[in-house]
Formats: sequence, structure tokens, C-alpha cells
Amino acid sequence: MQLLKEKIRQEGKALSSEILKVDSFLNHQIDPELMQEIGQEFARRFTNDGITRILTIESSGIAPSVMAGLALGVPVVFARKRKSLTLQEDFYEAKVHSFTKQQTNTIVVSKAHLVATDKVLVIDDFLANGQAAEGLIDIVQQAEATLAGVGIVIEKSFQEGGDRLRRKGIRVESLASVAALAEGKVTFAGE
Ligand code: 5GP
Repeated sequence: MQLLKEKIRQEGKALSSEILKVDSFLNHQIDPELMQEIGQEFARRFTNDGITRILTIESSGIAPSVMAGLALGVPVVFARKRKSLTLQEDFYEAKVHSFTKQQTNTIVVSKAHLVATDKVLVIDDFLANGQAAEGLIDIVQQAEATLAGVGIVIEKSFQEGGDRLRRKGIRVESLASVAALAEGKVTFAGE
């Protein structure tokens, strides 16, 4: 998605060879117009897939997901991060190791908001090693719902998550694919 790539080039900061900071439009401040374009692009790619629900994870997946949900006319559910490990029978739960925070969270989704008849689009802001997406997919499977695919705003294709998901036959649609990061420089796939 050209507009997103331009925004990353203008405002993204490669903090290291692994981490891209996009706090000015996605992870702290949010650019609503860009989010709307992102939502419409996800909707365009999944328009014929019979999506009934979008599943994301708090907090940075929420903005692009809401815009996609608006464009597709479906509700958006966000998995919540829960510190307590106590089991609750009304929730699906999965463990997710956070790449940026280097900690493991238990994420939960109420059974009321994801059901077996759902066709689910999983959306997240970044795809790195795939832990967040796999945790969400685990929850879709626990609900016995159908996974339509995974929509990612920024995939870092030099990390293993995208390949791992695609090898499992999962459809992954990334709006921008970053092939390499060096301090101060972002290289997109195909450049
Ligand atoms: P994964 O679970 O695929 O390893 O990492 C994805 C999660 O880590 C995303 O939900 C995102 O919040 C965070 N993340 C991973 N890499 C980056 C990055 O380069 N920049 C930012 N801002 N977040 C990242």
C-alpha cells in the first residue's frame, strides 16, 4: 500500500536492525485518515471471504481493525491482556510472548464474542515472529470458528512469523512488507 509505505518512510524510525518505531501514526498517536485507508484496503482484500468478525489484540491492533470492521460492516473483538493466570471458563485464552516487551502475556476473549459460526479475519499492527497472530489463531480454533486469514499493517519479512504462518497454509495479507531495517533506513520488500 503506497500511502502507508510513504508514511513509514517519512515518519518511521528504525531504532535498530529489528525494531521500527511508528509512534506518530500507529502505536501512540493515530492518523485517522491513514487508518481509514488501511481499513478500506483490508476490506477490499477480504471483501469476498464472508467475514463475520474481526479479531485483534489490544492496543495497537484496535485502530486499523475498527476501520476494517467499519468498511466490512462487521464487529471487532480485541483480545485483552490478562496478568492473572487463573482459568475462567467463560473465556478462551492463549499465551503470547511479546517481541517488543520481552514478556509473556495471557490473552483472553470472552466466549460471548466469538462463536463456531464465525468466519474470522485476524488483524494486527505488526508481524514479527508471529507470536501474537498465533495466539489469536489459537483462540479462533478454540472457538471452532473458521479463520479467513490474517491482515497485517506492517510485516517485517526478515523475521520468521510471516513464513511460519504461510507454511501452515494461512493466508497473510500485509499492507507493507519491510525487508530490512538499519539505523535510520527502511528497505521494503522488492526494493
Ligand atoms: P510477533 O508476535 O509477531 O513477534 O510481534 C508482533 C507484536 O509485537 C505486534 O503486536 C507489535 O505490537 C509488536 N511489534 C513487533 N515488532 C515491532 C516493531 O518493529 N515495532 C513496533 N512498534 N511493534 C512491534
